[in-house]
Amino acid sequence: MQPRYVPGEHESKIYDLWQKAGAFNPDSKKSKKDVSTKPFSIIMPPPNANDPLHIGHAMFVALEDTLTRFHRMLGDDTLWLPGTDHAGIETQYVFEKKLQKQGKSRFQYDRSTLYKLIWEYVQENSDTAVDQIKKLGASCDWSRFKFMLDEDVVKLTKNTFEKMHKDGLIYRDNRLVNYCTKCGTSYSELEVQSVEQTTSLYYIRYPLLDSPREHIVVATTRPEPIFADTHLAVHPKDKKNKHLIGKQVKNPLTGEPMTIIGDEFVNPEFGTGIVKLTPAHDTNDFAVAQKHTLPMHIAITKEGKLTAMAGKYAGLKVIAAREQIVADLQARGLVEKIDTTYKNIIKTCYKCSRVIEPLPLTQFFIAVNKTGKSLTKKALVALDKKETIIHGAGREKILRHWLTNLNDWNISRQIVWGIQIPVWYQIDGSEDAIAISFLDPAGEYITGTLSELLKKHTLAEITAGLQTLSADATVPYSVGDKSPQDKHQYLRETDTFDTWFSSAQWPVNTLESAKKGDFERFYPTTVMETGYDILPFWVMRMMLLGIYLTGKSPFSEVYLHGLVRDQHGKKMSKSKGNVVNPLDMVDKYGADAIRMALVIRSTPGIDKSVGERDFIAMRNLTNKIWNATRYIVLQEINESPALAEDAIVAKKTKQLAKKLKKLLQSRKIGVAADTTYSEFWHWFCDTCIESHKASDISTTCLRQTLQVFLQLLHPYMPFVTEACWQELDSSTLAINSSWPS
Ligand SMILES: [Zn+2]
Repeated sequence: MQPRYVPGEHESKIYDLWQKAGAFNPDSKKSKKDVSTKPFSIIMPPPNANDPLHIGHAMFVALEDTLTRFHRMLGDDTLWLPGTDHAGIETQYVFEKKLQKQGKSRFQYDRSTLYKLIWEYVQENSDTAVDQIKKLGASCDWSRFKFMLDEDVVKLTKNTFEKMHKDGLIYRDNRLVNYCTKCGTSYSELEVQSVEQTTSLYYIRYPLLDSPREHIVVATTRPEPIFADTHLAVHPKDKKNKHLIGKQVKNPLTGEPMTIIGDEFVNPEFGTGIVKLTPAHDTNDFAVAQKHTLPMHIAITKEGKLTAMAGKYAGLKVIAAREQIVADLQARGLVEKIDTTYKNIIKTCYKCSRVIEPLPLTQFFIAVNKTGKSLTKKALVALDKKETIIHGAGREKILRHWLTNLNDWNISRQIVWGIQIPVWYQIDGSEDAIAISFLDPAGEYITGTLSELLKKHTLAEITAGLQTLSADATVPYSVGDKSPQDKHQYLRETDTFDTWFSSAQWPVNTLESAKKGDFERFYPTTVMETGYDILPFWVMRMMLLGIYLTGKSPFSEVYLHGLVRDQHGKKMSKSKGNVVNPLDMVDKYGADAIRMALVIRSTPGIDKSVGERDFIAMRNLTNKIWNATRYIVLQEINESPALAEDAIVAKKTKQLAKKLKKLLQSRKIGVAADTTYSEFWHWFCDTCIESHKASDISTTCLRQTLQVFLQLLHPYMPFVTEACWQELDSSTLAINSSWPS
């Protein structure tokens, strides 16, 4: 046995040894235990296929592998199913940045070419995440690996869409969505960040229609869509303003008459207590407009520019238009005052931080709380019945809050990297209601309604160069993967599903497609382990769709780990320069040290600070395990007779194994790791080895106790414990051994 343990010399060899023995595969006879057939399964949260892992990934690998190895040792029918995600917007965003560097943009490619380019780009690095997960020692079953864009997974995802559409749980509607004009796509309410900003509040004068010299004053942070104002509104009980209801004013920019209406949504305390209604560009106003059936005028395009209705301001970007419009209104004496210290909550894009533009778009939505079929209510019932329990420092309350307040989920994304929505629009008869952008045969970018474009181009040309299609809510459509074969002509929807729509089905679709019989054998899964930051994005949605598809919540337990912070408790970020690359640390200190440093004393739902000194401390533990083993290996192999303290040591070891089993079964993983660490270090190494030197315990006893400790440490530190196990007994594997009892 070598005097020193060098992780790099052992880790990949040991990983191969496990794989060759089929230790990760629950079907392999070698790993199948005789006693229990109780299933234990975890579906890995799929990382972005072509992105290197960050420290948060290392955290989930460490925790999930700990649980997986523990349950395998208990004799459970254990599956940890790995996979990767296509990460729709994330990947397309990175790819577009790459294009930008080459002086290109997405507008230069038709839809299918752009998709192909991104596919190739993803393929180039598609093993990145997988290789790194292996380096961390993950004992997941690679023979069942799934990618979100695998053909069978895509098929299942589309089937769900069809089924929900048939059940009336997916509908198409023209509604205000959160649109990012930079990313060129809409987002769900969960992807929008709320940021407090100091902005200007403009007090604008709206002249009265009957006596233009008089005016009423309206406060707004957004004067640029005034063109699209339809009405003003006051609270019907507002003493100061209610007499205005029914009166008319002139739109200060268009001169059009506007009526003042009463509605309880108006906050009499805001500004002057009189607000303007711009239904097409404000979420509250849209809701009021629906209630009063007010018209919608569109003043801002998807590119974030003013439309033709803005006259001389048409084509200007929002901010530039705002400045000019305010200046012009000031010149006309229509600005009462400007409060430049107004604190405003604005919505920004989580991806690029640009201000989100609420825009009316016709999209597909999931009805999350439909009477009689409420997805959110069923998820709440699953929580009530403890069908799913949450480990995460009170985060069940947050989940319940989301489930109680969730709005319908917009699942259409205007990007190409993803699963194209299986919908076909009937174009004949709807030529005026369909807007198209495409590259003509000469490669020129052309937009317009289909009827305009068909004057100069054939349908085949348009189809070949198609970038985007946007059909009004009136256009008839058909759901399915292939174009309907009837007398009509069709064009396919160009939008893709929100990434979370497919990942919400991940536990069901992976088990349905990985191997025949897996779904029956492993669903519902045992533990969903992931970061608390994606509780509403992912965990909640997996519950919604899992219950919808199978009638059962997809997991019995949710284990939410905290964020990994630096050693000073600060959030890691590139700009702060405090990011710890887990793979660099693996090279330096070994995978075991990194895993143990992350897991030890961690608590679900609570952030965890780690730094280099923690990795060093756990590297020291790795060495301690090796040295203890070496001490024992170097003892005389002659069977030594039992000594006075043997029985005491054996009893204590047994009790410890039992205690740790309980801790791990109740998911107190951080405490279990800490207990194992201190018992090994302070009791086994400091006391037992010393007692052996003093001839109070026998070599046989010491050796057996070490073997137990290698097993107790194995779930957290699989490499060094396996390497030591091999030194003691190369005929078996620690990974396949049974939990000591
Ligand atoms: Zn954006």
